[in-house]
Amino acid sequence: MTGQWTHWDVEQSAENSLTVWIDVREESQNVFSNEVMSELDSVLDHLESQPDASAIVFRTRKENSFFAGADIHEFLDIQTAAEAEQVSERGQTVFKRIAALKPLTVAVIQGACLGGGLEMALACDRRIAVTSSSTRLGLPEIELGILPGWGGTQRLPGLVGILQAISLILQAKKLTAEKAQKVGLVDKAVMPDQLEEAVLQCVRSGGAIRAERKRTWMNWLLDRTNFGRDMVIARTGKRIARQKEHYPALEKALTAIRKSYEGGDAGYRYEQEAIGELLMTPTCKNLVRLFLLRERARSLETWDVSPAIRDQSPRNLVVLGGGTMGAGIAQIGIKSGLHVVVKEINDDAVEAAQKRITSIYDTLVERKSLTQTEADTHLGRLTLTTQWDPCKQADVVIEAVPESLSLKQSIFKELAAMVPEGTVLATNTSALSVDEIFADIPNGERVGGLHFFNPVHRMDLIEVVHGRTTSPDTTGHLLALSRKLGKTPIVTRDSPGFVVNRVLMPYLDEAVKIALEFTSSSSDLAAIDHQMKRFGMPMGPLELMDQVGIDVAAHVASSMSVVFGEDSVTALVLKRMVDAKRLGRKTDAGFYNYVHGKRTEAVGLHPLVEGIDIDIPVSPETPLDEHLTPIQQRLVLAMINEAGRCLDENVVEEAWMIDLAMVLGTGFAPFRGGPLQYAVQFSNDELIHTLEAMAKEYGPRFEPSPALRTLES
Ligand code: NAD
Repeated sequence: MTGQWTHWDVEQSAENSLTVWIDVREESQNVFSNEVMSELDSVLDHLESQPDASAIVFRTRKENSFFAGADIHEFLDIQTAAEAEQVSERGQTVFKRIAALKPLTVAVIQGACLGGGLEMALACDRRIAVTSSSTRLGLPEIELGILPGWGGTQRLPGLVGILQAISLILQAKKLTAEKAQKVGLVDKAVMPDQLEEAVLQCVRSGGAIRAERKRTWMNWLLDRTNFGRDMVIARTGKRIARQKEHYPALEKALTAIRKSYEGGDAGYRYEQEAIGELLMTPTCKNLVRLFLLRERARSLETWDVSPAIRDQSPRNLVVLGGGTMGAGIAQIGIKSGLHVVVKEINDDAVEAAQKRITSIYDTLVERKSLTQTEADTHLGRLTLTTQWDPCKQADVVIEAVPESLSLKQSIFKELAAMVPEGTVLATNTSALSVDEIFADIPNGERVGGLHFFNPVHRMDLIEVVHGRTTSPDTTGHLLALSRKLGKTPIVTRDSPGFVVNRVLMPYLDEAVKIALEFTSSSSDLAAIDHQMKRFGMPMGPLELMDQVGIDVAAHVASSMSVVFGEDSVTALVLKRMVDAKRLGRKTDAGFYNYVHGKRTEAVGLHPLVEGIDIDIPVSPETPLDEHLTPIQQRLVLAMINEAGRCLDENVVEEAWMIDLAMVLGTGFAPFRGGPLQYAVQFSNDELIHTLEAMAKEYGPRFEPSPALRTLES
């Protein structure tokens, strides 16, 4: 018997089976909103009335989305732990009804099958997944500071074993269809053209396609014995010991997994209680806020892009320079369906650029993120050349040649004479002025900056730089291109370092100053990095400079001297490090020594400080937060104060943009929500009073920025 709802419909299919089609209206991805869940409840009334059907097959009408998970916007409506528990209990109840359906139930997975979507698929008897680059299965709730709350922690371990369950839930791993089949998460992975046959066979055979996990002695020990499970739980507990302070969901997810082996309803009840507690934590609130901010930044409406431009999609992209950044930009361009021309200086450089791009694809194919055929199709859209001619058709040109003002100016001058007047010209400069680069280019309204982050294929952020002459339409085109490339844009003014390097630089500067102070006490430099990792940074400031290269950091520091003053002691120290060939990881020596790429010990700055006056401050007695060490306070407040100055100078329009840019661009502790979100938890008086005291002790760089006096959450 058929049935029709807004987001679901039920069809009679072959072999007396029923197909339940999912198509959440007005959404590009299927998501479980309250309404969609309520309808599923009613669909289940209908399905329960047909126990004689041979099978019930859940399928999506959207090519790239089985179910992307719960509707995260609705998290904001949940005010209390009790309400959160109810949401969890309701989802569990609905999925238990699916699990209890009498006919064979099959989930046909294509595209995203994440969070609540996978929890629903887990409640089915069988899972068939289509092998395509968009199919991904996972339970990424931990990234929002919660755990899977609709039975996922209870059903998954029995299916894939404790080790895989931990990796999927605690590390938010997302699996391709093939990998999911390998670990037993899906029963069959099939090519798109084999899908119909596979579904029919599954229905006909009454589900005789079950994936069996390999029966090894080790699997038996870990999954079937208390001893084995306890060992894995204890070892994982140790591994997360440090993170769980900031990400409490980790420990709760581990406990929920352990409880899944107890049987009965206790594990489900625990999931509900954990959801209740976790949804109320600041960690969860910050992570949810960042998720929604990212969505906001990716919407062209946020940036007032005109509807005409929103509908136009660039087709031809030219990238000048195929080095580290140019190759990365070209790769994401062809991956996104654009035709890309990379212009290089000579044949050797062309060959090197080609190798860089193909090696990214080799890795993607090796990891099964793409098939070789897909990679070849993408590479078919790439042209590498030393000539200008193929560049003339460009809709947008992105320049990624070395960081030299005169080189960039001359290359754009040559190019501007060749391309049509409407071609948008953008530079990927890190720290030069966009206005200066384009000073002599006619039609200045079509120029701007597109600042990508390294490595381009992994870093989500792009700073879209609006120069003095840039027209709103040009910014619109650059934003539309960012979206096409799958990136998250933040629009900034053309100000030294834009927003990310601008806010990061005082932090690195302060770290070097502390490192200098350490020379008088022989303290271990590693303590600086260690403390910032404890704060929640992915790596400490000195490690970061070694990673990006001391020469690059020195260059950025000197380019930003307009903001931070000419006589920066940090610029001097970094220059001395460069002169001493301590360039960081690439020369096996920077703030640390490295042997075969492995860090050994912190070197200290002793031989480099000659002639530098080192002022040893006393830590001021104004701790802002009892949990912060004096070093953490100095480093974090350096960033917060600079973020405030960016607001004072309108580098970006709103505070949230800085938070999102710093989290995406530098990995700023996501659970703290970004530098300004972290700052708003203190009263303005506390913050200003602390900064004023620090300004007295450390210097005027800590004079509070006016914007911080009126900061609001
Ligand atoms: P790179 O040295 O790796 O590559 C530069 C490429 O440009 C080389 O392949 C070179 O052969 C080519 N080139 C030189 N002159 C050219 C010309 N006249 N025409 C065409 N190609 C030419 O440099 P990179 O790290 O890719 O940096 C490029 C730009 O991106 C710089 O402005 C840099 O500041 C900026 N940037 C770099 C990073 C990073 O982490 N590397 C991050 C963001 C922005």
